[in-house]
Amino acid sequence: MIAFYLMRIVYRKLQERTAMKRLARSGIQYIDQMDGFQFEAYLKALFQQLGYKAHVTPKSGDFGADLIMKGQQKIVIQAKRYGSKNRVSLSAVQEIYGAQAYYKADEAWVITNSSFTKSARALAEACNVQLFDRKALQELILEVNPTHTAEKVYREIEPEPRTCPTCGKSLVVRQGKTNRFFGCSSFPQCRHTEAIHK
Ligand SMILES: [Zn+2]
Repeated sequence: MIAFYLMRIVYRKLQERTAMKRLARSGIQYIDQMDGFQFEAYLKALFQQLGYKAHVTPKSGDFGADLIMKGQQKIVIQAKRYGSKNRVSLSAVQEIYGAQAYYKADEAWVITNSSFTKSARALAEACNVQLFDRKALQELILEVNPTHTAEKVYREIEPEPRTCPTCGKSLVVRQGKTNRFFGCSSFPQCRHTEAIHK
């Protein structure tokens, strides 16, 4: 009897590990290292592969949508690339719901590599806003199997330009041993560095 229980636990653990490995093939670990601009570029490529014409809205005056997808349907999207401890809150759902009305879209989505707060999920349910959390995003990526992989976008698309908070000069992307990062253009006078994902 005990042996049977143990076998079941081992079997379940193995199943979990296989599921984790499968989801990791989505390249989510590269999305975790992107900035918001790279994440939007990645989603744009992903939807283009699904036959949508993708349009990235300008940062100011976007009426709450980061991306507008035109295909059989019109979809407005908010893209939230967050750290794992940062949950997407209610305001993202409110904004994309407003954007859906403004752009006269058929659907409104919020996509994140993180998760959603309880209130965000409750409002989305009421407003019929589609939420893609980390797991749903990975499933979507695996289904589309994009030619522009997350790794490719992370390595080839430049993140949004930034200035150095220490000296005010521009920051430049540098290649570290394993990942890319921002370093100050006035190095070695200024030694400020920061991660590409904020
Ligand atoms: Zn500097």
